[in-house]
Amino acid sequence: MAIKSKIKGKKKHLNKPTSVKYKKYTVSSDKITKKARSCPRCGPGIFLSVGKGRAYCGKCHFTEFDKKEVELKLESKK
Ligand SMILES: [Zn+2]
Repeated sequence: MAIKSKIKGKKKHLNKPTSVKYKKYTVSSDKITKKARSCPRCGPGIFLSVGKGRAYCGKCHFTEFDKKEVELKLESKK
């Protein structure tokens, strides 16, 4: 019986991508500017992932909709 090189059902281990939260900040001489919006529920440090017209928090599943997008949708329904 030959041993198969590929074992079914076993996924190749992939390392998790490094948390790149520092990319969300821009540090100038004395000011720290946040690039991304932080979650109002989880507080600063937890960033919202920005999608199409909405921002989503992966921690508490909070979704914030862009006001402009919502207004446009409401207008198109009329
Ligand atoms: Zn949150």
